[in-house]
Amino acid sequence: MHETQNNAEALIACIDCDQLYSKPWLQKGEKALCSNCGAVLCERKRGGIDLSLALALTCLILLLLANVFPLLRMSIAGIVQEGSLMTGIVEMYKQGYWEIAALVFIVTILAPLARALLLLYVLIPMRFNRLAPRAARVFRLLETLSPWAMTEVFMLGILVAVVKMADLATLQPGIALYSFAALMLFVAATDASLDVDNIWEKIGAAS
Ligand SMILES: [Zn+2]
Repeated sequence: MHETQNNAEALIACIDCDQLYSKPWLQKGEKALCSNCGAVLCERKRGGIDLSLALALTCLILLLLANVFPLLRMSIAGIVQEGSLMTGIVEMYKQGYWEIAALVFIVTILAPLARALLLLYVLIPMRFNRLAPRAARVFRLLETLSPWAMTEVFMLGILVAVVKMADLATLQPGIALYSFAALMLFVAATDASLDVDNIWEKIGAAS
């Protein structure tokens, strides 16, 4: 819910009952409720841009760790094998499952990476009261991209595989697995911290 507003008298509509209101001025941590049905009209998140920035940076670091370190160490009958996220994807590709390999690559590496980088691109200049070139376009792309960063689905897949293989092999989780689990939480935290209305307002005010 973000509207293009050219004056201070911008209107917002309740997403549940369509009741119109003139946009209220909110302090950090406040939210406005619809007096008709009680739905949240708009809110200002408490942490602001600093928190979202810190969380996006953390995501980037975790993503790096998840790609550099081994995901799992497997030993079957004395043979020890270590696999990373990327070797897994390459292996799937080699075995002919190129569609799945591409999907896993997009969902676990490309989308979270693009999201973190684009978010930093918009938020870092904003932190210093500037606007990145094409910030509106980038931020809109970011919102389109969000559903593709499905780290939790991948995590679930790994857990299923681990449970199934637990009887056949000795499995040892690697640093990347812990990083990935943390990444899953931090992606969700970044989403929750992001004050989308406030960011659109800043983009709108500067352009
Ligand atoms: Zn309402």
